[in-house]
Amino acid sequence: MSAVSVNLLLVEDNRADARLVQAWLQDGASVLPARCHHVSYLRDAVDALRGNHFDAVLLDMSLPDSEGIDNVDRIREVADDLPIVVLTGRDDEAFGLTVLQHGAQDYLVKGRHTGDYVNRSVRYAIERKRLEEQLVRLAHFDVVTGLANRVRFVDRLEHAVARATRRREGLAILYLDLDGFKLVNDTYGHTAGDWLLHQVGKRLTNCVRDEDTVARIGGDEFAILIEEIEALQGAITVAEKLLAEVGAPYYFKGTEILVGASIGIAPFPASGQDGETLMNHADIAMYRSKESGRHGYQCFTQEMRLETSRQREAEKALERALHAGEFELFYQPRVAVDGQRIAALEALLRWRDRGTLKVPQSFIPLLERTGLIGEVGDWVVASVCAQIQTWREVGCDVPLVSINLSANQLRDVGLSRRLRRILDSYDIRPDTIEFEITETLLLGKDETVKRVLQELRELGCSIAIDDFGAGYCSFAYLRDYRVDVIKIDRGFISGITAGSTEALLVGGIIRLARDLSLKVVIEGVECREEVEVLRPCNPDEFQGYLFHKPMEAAAIRKLLCFAPAPPNPDVSQNWH
Ligand code: C2E
Ligand code: MG
Ligand code: MG
Repeated sequence: MSAVSVNLLLVEDNRADARLVQAWLQDGASVLPARCHHVSYLRDAVDALRGNHFDAVLLDMSLPDSEGIDNVDRIREVADDLPIVVLTGRDDEAFGLTVLQHGAQDYLVKGRHTGDYVNRSVRYAIERKRLEEQLVRLAHFDVVTGLANRVRFVDRLEHAVARATRRREGLAILYLDLDGFKLVNDTYGHTAGDWLLHQVGKRLTNCVRDEDTVARIGGDEFAILIEEIEALQGAITVAEKLLAEVGAPYYFKGTEILVGASIGIAPFPASGQDGETLMNHADIAMYRSKESGRHGYQCFTQEMRLETSRQREAEKALERALHAGEFELFYQPRVAVDGQRIAALEALLRWRDRGTLKVPQSFIPLLERTGLIGEVGDWVVASVCAQIQTWREVGCDVPLVSINLSANQLRDVGLSRRLRRILDSYDIRPDTIEFEITETLLLGKDETVKRVLQELRELGCSIAIDDFGAGYCSFAYLRDYRVDVIKIDRGFISGITAGSTEALLVGGIIRLARDLSLKVVIEGVECREEVEVLRPCNPDEFQGYLFHKPMEAAAIRKLLCFAPAPPNPDVSQNWH
């Protein structure tokens, strides 16, 4: 380390000691060229600190106007960020420790050390203080954006709430979550993602006053504390400004990037009396804003809290349901168009909740939100495998079985490994299983989804795009993901008539699928007329209430086992 000139404050009333220390510090052999300002009283030291910059203080413990550890406390009150090296006549380890605990960086016992040692001590004290400050910075600021982090935000919020309570003022917290940030990360990479977060942080900071606090408190979540606010309307005005700023285009290396934001507002004291409650309530309002169509804001209401606690109850009930074995699978056959042969079975999840059978729409979104979908999804695959085994044992010729996967499951990089293990443990060949992915849920070109789908195909399972045509990106999916089957959504089929736009569209989709060597299933067929219109389009399979409704495994067993050609006459003889 090269020697740097540092400015020291020496507080020492004993003239002989002061001269000795100064001589050491200015010694030619010294590693620390120092300018040294000497005072004999603590009050003079305090004055000197107020008007000047110093790099460190050498502080005697015994001064005419102050004595002992108080000296350290007093200096720290005035200059908290200054390294302190204590000079003491006491060679006492316990006292040394107390000195350090009060915030000094080192202590020197008079008459025991050489000049080099004193120099090194001062120099290390400065370095240690710098590192300490760096650590404090890391603990309180976010590295990506330079904004305050959650720890600092909570700290500032607690102080602000105490002050607002004393002065009977208002304040508000705005919780902001970016819409579409994941897509930016997935499309342009993490460097672009970090750059964007930094830009968003800058824009948010520009929208508020210097006294307000902007923090990054999670991946793409920010919190803004607005103090001294008159009424809710003030917070709403800020929210509108933030939305407009964040929503304006960004240009990363010449590419335009667009993101939106959802904001939840919790004003004090109306939404809560303490920091923690306010943060929870702003978070609840933010989620509500996300749910009610993104890029907007919502103010917290007590009704939202009730709704959230109802949701929490429902989440707990689902967790119980999984462990209490309340989930069941129904199966709906797919029939080949060339006759009534059962070409495949689709496994459909049901929840028998206190005697009532619930359909997936009523609980799958909750499973997704809680992350339970992964566990339930694995259970579905294991149950399908166990069921195939049972059907086979009684001599049924089991066709392909398709299983629905939700987008969240496909973002789980461990999925294919776990599914392979499940299939192996039941001795089920992967080509017996097809996975259906819902087109509406596959957001954008998600690299993880792409990889997981590829792994499932490599396992030997086939992939179907479910509800094809219901979303907006059907054809992009055909380009981005390799699939084997498309299932045309019921929306096209319902009430279809010959020569209608729907009929032409379905015909076109099927011709396209043929060119791409994809199999086509038409779902949701409810009446003969629909079949008559659709059959000339030449799809591969039909599925719908007209043929079979979803049914319990026992009913499927009858269907399969009375199917035309029993596979193994010996087994079938046994069970008849
Ligand atoms: P989906 O995969 O498109 O399944 C077809 C849905 O349409 C089923 O509803 C089925 O009962 C219904 N359906 C079949 N034929 C007809 C018909 O002719 N007319 C009408 N109106 N509806 C018909 P279900 O069982 O309520 O399932 C709804 C959705 O829940 C499924 O849509 C699928 O996306 C999801 N789902 C079901 N089971 C699972 C599962 O195990 N895991 C996951 N992640 N999602 C599942
Ligand atoms: Mg499906
Ligand atoms: Mg479907």
